[in-house]
Amino acid sequence: MTLTITDQAIALKFFEKLKELSGENVKLCMQCATCTGMCPMAAEMDHSPRKIMHLAQFGLVDMLSASNTFWKCASCHACTVKCPRGIDIAKVMEALRQQVLRKSKNYIEPSALPAERIEELPQIALVAGFRKLTS
Ligand code: SF4
Ligand code: SF4
Repeated sequence: MTLTITDQAIALKFFEKLKELSGENVKLCMQCATCTGMCPMAAEMDHSPRKIMHLAQFGLVDMLSASNTFWKCASCHACTVKCPRGIDIAKVMEALRQQVLRKSKNYIEPSALPAERIEELPQIALVAGFRKLTS
């Protein structure tokens, strides 16, 4: 894949923002896939945690933005404790969510939830879900 100068500028800006929000350097990732092997949510994700790190290394913003991986991440930190490069992958996932939410885009729309569904869900689950998935 050949990146244009504009692509490279977007990738650099994205990479710097990701580093600022997460405090992590995804370029340290050596693609060992330990994170994917540890992840209890991997089967629900369209890209594995390892692949997300790879996309982030190259600043492939469009592919990252379209992914459901960082929304499905349960923030369990199983990947983080096992990463041989010491990367806090859970923080990277949170930073990817923040990059979307800061543009006032929600992953779920609270107003679109059926009233009967809201009634049956525990309030703490609703609050936690809205904090994670809405801007
Ligand atoms: S465990 Fe760490 S080094 Fe290995 S693929 Fe995942 S983020 Fe990269
Ligand atoms: S923190 Fe997220 S990506 Fe890491 S193992 Fe847990 S669910 Fe998977």
